[in-house]
Amino acid sequence: MTETTVYLDNAATTRVTDNVLSAMLPWLKEGYGNASALYSLARKSAIALNKARALCAEILGCESRNVYFTSGGTESDNTAIFGAAQAARLSGRRHFITTAFEHHAVLEPMKRLASEGFDITYLPVYDDGVVRPSDLEAAIRPETSFVSVMSANNEIGTIQPVSELAGICRERGIVFHTDAVQAVGNIPVSASDVDMLSLSGHKLHAPKGIGIFCAKDPYPMLLGGSQQGGRRAGTENIAAIVGLAEALRASAENMDAKNARLLPLRDRLISEISRIPGAKLNGCRERRLACNVNFSFPGHESETMILKLDLKGIAVSGGSACASGSLEPSHVLSAIGCSYDEARSSLRISMSDLTSEADIDAFLKALPECL
Ligand code: PLP
Repeated sequence: MTETTVYLDNAATTRVTDNVLSAMLPWLKEGYGNASALYSLARKSAIALNKARALCAEILGCESRNVYFTSGGTESDNTAIFGAAQAARLSGRRHFITTAFEHHAVLEPMKRLASEGFDITYLPVYDDGVVRPSDLEAAIRPETSFVSVMSANNEIGTIQPVSELAGICRERGIVFHTDAVQAVGNIPVSASDVDMLSLSGHKLHAPKGIGIFCAKDPYPMLLGGSQQGGRRAGTENIAAIVGLAEALRASAENMDAKNARLLPLRDRLISEISRIPGAKLNGCRERRLACNVNFSFPGHESETMILKLDLKGIAVSGGSACASGSLEPSHVLSAIGCSYDEARSSLRISMSDLTSEADIDAFLKALPECL
């Protein structure tokens, strides 16, 4: 197998950085106590847990008691939606609103609720990949109780007007959730703007399997012990939680410097790839994460391009998900109006703090050879 030397798939996952690993190691070795027990070894874990929670709350702009550690973005999104569904069953307000290009961790729970009689409206996202507040206003009905709109899209990196959308909901007593998995660490995010927020550690150099759900008194999805106030049962993974807090701290501290460095790299990618005949940028250029570029190359299949780049040691993603053996075109690209051919010929190039100019040089040299 070829060794990957140029990693440009940071929207899929990121490498655990040395600072995060160093913060975690003591809690995997000597600090193994169960935070719920009474003796000193356990109390040290409980102190580390509380410290990590306070740090995360400070960075996210919410109270410590509203920070719940979960297994990642998927669990956090599911908790938001199924919790809102539980409240809606009691109030009778069974109309939910989301967008056509959310992550499957939002769309699949919505699909389940639709099959149970909930009414779900999917807001359009247009060719620029941005939700319009006026569309949200028009979609709201007396029976609307919950809205979920992602902060930044995972495939095309477009940034949504979350504060404005949340404000519309607040005025009408509607709960607003944002999936901020791709936004945290890349753009300023404040949990105080919204009622519920999801994030995932492995997108910002923490390990996989740890995330946060920010909310007041969330619906308990996992029942068991009384950890996290009984609202998210299960022995806390102290090492991963401490790692996530360190990753959040570092990403908040480095965000401006990182974006100042990545923005010219992103713009160079866009201008050089645009010169390839037929290449089309997906999503608008302006409201876009500094770390994301997504292009279609009609006539070229994503999978073929990805495998050819892989042979050169370069890792990028396409816009197709392999579902039951058939390659489905990306629902995100379809939602922004891409044709079948455009949606099946896309490449996502996503960068992080660890991406160098030499990585971009190598990709730009290799790409035309793979078309
Ligand atoms: N939401 C978005 C926008 C994502 O990009 C992802 C992961 O790709 C998730 C949710 C799921 O997060 P996790 O992998 O932590 O379950």
